Amino acid sequence: MQAEPVLLAGLIEACRAAITANSDHLCALDRAIGDGDHGTNMQRGCEAVSAEEATVSGLPLPEALERIGLTLVMSIGGAAGPLYGTLLIEMGRELRKSGREQDFSLALKQAIDAVARRGRSNAGDKTLLDVLYPVQDALAQHSPLTDIVRRAELSARLTGAMKAMRGRAAYLGDRSIGHVDPGASSCALLTTAICRYLEEHRPE
Ligand code: ADP
Ligand code: MG
Repeated sequence: MQAEPVLLAGLIEACRAAITANSDHLCALDRAIGDGDHGTNMQRGCEAVSAEEATVSGLPLPEALERIGLTLVMSIGGAAGPLYGTLLIEMGRELRKSGREQDFSLALKQAIDAVARRGRSNAGDKTLLDVLYPVQDALAQHSPLTDIVRRAELSARLTGAMKAMRGRAAYLGDRSIGHVDPGASSCALLTTAICRYLEEHRPE
């Protein structure tokens, strides 16, 4: 399975642009229930991936995803680095095992479960998992890209009503209620950027 080099390069740039445009907003969300660095952490990660875009987009898709994941672990830092990193590394491993692109949503499910194990977190804990699981579910149901975007955005908003059970926000207990989770929000932004880009550029 070869990565489509132009498509992958475009997706990397779309993600970088979305995070850069929303970095201040992500920091503000993290200031409310964490330490205020989520936007800058994510921006650092996206810039590190962009810097090696030429190398990455020449790799087969599973290897490209693993490489991006390693770069994210090394560059984002904090709690989110190992979690986003695990997501992409495990996606790559799963796709390599199956060797079939149609197993994408299954590979995503396995990768999200690996993130949950890594973070010792579950759906409902007010984390990025609360966007990842609904997005995977929509993908598994072959929902149109516009529906996946809506699902991601709604799921991020719904974390506002949740009580944080993991990460820094968990120290706030009930006081975390009423604030959208920064990781869930970055995850929705990335999902939106990816879906919009695919909608415009997906080969027929
Ligand atoms: P840090 O908390 O180290 O400053 P970031 O601010 O970059 O790291 O990322 C915070 C986000 O990471 C949270 O909003 C949440 O979505 C996610 N997160 C933190 N801890 C966990 C965990 N144990 N499991 C899943 N997600 C987590
Ligand atoms: Mg933080």
